[in-house]
Amino acid sequence: MGKPTGFMEYERETSKCISPYERIKNFNEFHLHMSKGNQQLQGARCMECGVPFCQSGMMIGGSASGCPLNNLIPEWNDLIYNGKWDEAVSRLLITNNFPEFTSRVCPAPCEAACTCNIYCQPVSVKENEYAIIENAFKSGLIKPKLPSVRTGKSVAVIGSGPSGLAAAAQLNKRGHSVTVYERSDRIGGLLMYGIPNMKLDKSIIERRIKLMEAEGITFITNADIGTDKYPASEIAEKYDAVILACGASNPRNINAPSRDSSGIYFAVDFLESTTKSLLDSNLKDNMYISAKDKNVVVIGGGDTGNDCVGTCIRHGCRSVVQLEMMPKLPDSRSENNPWPEWPRICKTDYGQEEAAFVSGHDPRIYQTTVKEFIKNQNCELTAVVTVRLKSVKNKETGRNELQEIQGSEKEIPAELVLIAAGFVGAQSYVTDSFDVEVTERTTVKTEDKSFRTSKDKIFTAGDMHRGQSLVVWAISEGRKAAKEVDEFLIGYSNLR
Ligand SMILES: Cc1cc2nc3c(=O)[nH]c(=O)nc-3n(C[C@H](O)[C@H](O)[C@H](O)COP(=O)(O)OP(=O)(O)OC[C@H]3O[C@@H](n4cnc5c(N)ncnc54)[C@H](O)[C@@H]3O)c2cc1C
Ligand code: SF4
Repeated sequence: MGKPTGFMEYERETSKCISPYERIKNFNEFHLHMSKGNQQLQGARCMECGVPFCQSGMMIGGSASGCPLNNLIPEWNDLIYNGKWDEAVSRLLITNNFPEFTSRVCPAPCEAACTCNIYCQPVSVKENEYAIIENAFKSGLIKPKLPSVRTGKSVAVIGSGPSGLAAAAQLNKRGHSVTVYERSDRIGGLLMYGIPNMKLDKSIIERRIKLMEAEGITFITNADIGTDKYPASEIAEKYDAVILACGASNPRNINAPSRDSSGIYFAVDFLESTTKSLLDSNLKDNMYISAKDKNVVVIGGGDTGNDCVGTCIRHGCRSVVQLEMMPKLPDSRSENNPWPEWPRICKTDYGQEEAAFVSGHDPRIYQTTVKEFIKNQNCELTAVVTVRLKSVKNKETGRNELQEIQGSEKEIPAELVLIAAGFVGAQSYVTDSFDVEVTERTTVKTEDKSFRTSKDKIFTAGDMHRGQSLVVWAISEGRKAAKEVDEFLIGYSNLR
């Protein structure tokens, strides 16, 4: 433990955000990070607990508490306090292939589980992680590491999101020859074409892909596996093992009257079009779904909805509201949600903060959904009819269900609707073409704690296996799948 009294001497500090006024003018990342010296003091706040909940990654109270990757958090907190940045990065990379992604986009279950929450503010684990990896890149510590021996075994990874990339990195490290196939024109999955640039600058992904290429991994883009051009059978025949890491790409739809109006899009299509246009032409090609001067309704109060709100604000929308079916969560933990459980509290994210700055009020409307879309004679969306919801106990099942409140309908103008209502499972053309069994939720079926599908030598990982989740879980799944594939290929594995 670097400084036994650190947690009493130093207040928690985090990076400063550029003001909404400035940051909505562009799509750049907007955190101003601390100096190395100040970050070291943040490392000193760690008590190096005997039972470090921050790194536990356990299910407590129905949700995960602590880091799903079991990052060696107290160790690297201590190392940065002592200025041993090079040792800190080598400890960090033992458990996490891509700290530059998680330190930007992770909701930080480590911090929610930190013991310091009991009496004060948690250790700034996420920003310590950011400082370790970015300082390592800056000081030239991150170099391609090529395996010393090649095993002669080959693996195809289908899908280049965080789960596929983590699996590829791990298997390549063991000396297997890895080819990653991606149907999109750029590598990264939802890191590239879901999460907006202001949260994760796309050059950060490209920096990592260059390293992975230098380490010997082959990437093939515009390759949609399971189609006539790239039949699944050819892939299965050509490689010693295949990992399906195609994400949970089926968006949940809203089936209300006049759903066929033009102007209604799925959130990911909207977000992808902005990022692609930004990267291709700095938005000059106009090849994106624009919210400029439009009244926008975002359906879904979660993180994806928030990303849509932030993107619409940057486009220059006329107004934006975000509909959420559930009631507003409390501002602080309720008694039945104690530490170290994941806190079920209301958070205001960057997009909502920006919308409040522009319009003067929080864009979220709770316990409300869309009852009907309204279109004009050209089939263009003009408004949505919303309805309030109440929670009612179903006498037969004992479960609470949401019911419409009659007479609470309200019409709001809308020329653009973005559906951010979550995702359901894997796309059937991939699972059918590989002939793998799926669950009721249409995720790929495996035995508990295994990544092996019903089909010989075909494995799976990430959202396609777990269902819609988080980047940190996708990396964890990719690593575990790689370990199982390694055992399958050579009989044992020393991957962790
Ligand atoms: C808008 C949005 C914002 C999010 N923000 C966050 C966040 O801030 N923090 C966080 O932790 N999580 C966030 N998530 C969730 C997170 O991005 C996902 O959980 C994670 O990316 C899943 O990783 P994956 O590798 O399983 O799949 P994906 O990232 O979905 O990648 C799957 C890849 O497979 C490719 N593919 C699919 N089928 C084929 C095929 N047949 N052939 C070839 N390639 C194929 C797809 O094109 C895609 O590139 C967000 C999700 C969304 C939608
Ligand atoms: S729980 Fe908090 S204080 Fe304890 S070891 Fe982890 S980061 Fe340090």
